[in-house]
Amino acid sequence: MTHRVFNFNPGPSTLPLDVLQTVREELLDYRGTGMSVLEISHRSPEYDAINAEAMALLKELMGLGDEYKILFVGGGASTQFALIPMNFLRGGQVGAYVDTGTWSTKAMQEAQIQGNTVLAASSKEAGYTYVPKQEDLEIPDNSAYLHITTNNTIKGTQYHYVPEAGGVPLIADMSSDICSRRMDFSRFAMIYAGAQKNLGPSGVTVVVIRDDLLERCLDVLPTMLNYQTHAAKQSLYNTPPCFAVYIVKLVLERIKHGGGLEAVAKVNEKKKDTIYALIDQDPDYFRGTAREDSRSWMNVTLRLPSEDLEKKFIAEAKKRGLVGLKGHRSVGGIRISLYNAMTLEGAEKVAAFMQAFRKAN
Ligand code: PMP
Repeated sequence: MTHRVFNFNPGPSTLPLDVLQTVREELLDYRGTGMSVLEISHRSPEYDAINAEAMALLKELMGLGDEYKILFVGGGASTQFALIPMNFLRGGQVGAYVDTGTWSTKAMQEAQIQGNTVLAASSKEAGYTYVPKQEDLEIPDNSAYLHITTNNTIKGTQYHYVPEAGGVPLIADMSSDICSRRMDFSRFAMIYAGAQKNLGPSGVTVVVIRDDLLERCLDVLPTMLNYQTHAAKQSLYNTPPCFAVYIVKLVLERIKHGGGLEAVAKVNEKKKDTIYALIDQDPDYFRGTAREDSRSWMNVTLRLPSEDLEKKFIAEAKKRGLVGLKGHRSVGGIRISLYNAMTLEGAEKVAAFMQAFRKAN
């Protein structure tokens, strides 16, 4: 048996074992081609099918119609921070941002290089421990878009509602919670995510964009930086990250066969409940950092009574095959990432370890 640990890394992160096994089985000879997906042309019928299937699956799972286009591009979610204002922010307009932590701050800073931004709301003054509510949002009429980060990977907070932005296009960075639950995705004009948490390996960024927003792309942009280029060519304008897209396709197939996003959400809910229950039982010891109404299902963040205990916790967990539990370097503490591919068994293992650690320390 190959040695596998329970991998709680925040991204790149654990992938479903059966997907990895399929990758291994198909690696040397992809469906009779005598080549691997790493080696075939992105213009081959085999890759065309992978690309088309991945796009169709994503739209199907998210319940999106033909007015949405799927793009598979490079550069990570961080490149999207810059491309969004480049494509959509015109003179006389502002990019409206809700600031809920590091990633939304970075998204806004990229827009500030190019134009004017406005804070629609921020939880900065409270250390980003919560997500602002609908009634806290101030969205100017001249907003080119409203940008939110649905899950805040570092601070462990998550939106549990879809903001109403009036007529303003809603754009979401869903890097750390895409396809983890059912929501009305048609409320968004654009969704983007680095694949490396819930959908596959790093190297491909998924962009979901509605036609009415796509039409607004500014036409002064370099070809590769314009969303229309990739939409018009089904993400085959240039050489895409083929192998990463192939793995995304396998992950999406698996989600579909497992019962879609409802089924995924059911397991994700149990996983997070398993951990938050311990935090609620013993809040002086397991100090959850997110406000209860904003808790993330994907990244559970907590502090222990001392940094020494946190170090010990992380080291002892690792010895038991529970890896990747260290909080982001900017905040410290513990972070338990429970992305789609983490099993309920994994969440239960970490919960059992928390209880044993508490008893012993
Ligand atoms: N947004 C969020 C919410 C993230 O968690 C991350 C990475 N952890 C990023 C953006 C940056 O993504 P990338 O590394 O793909 O540029």
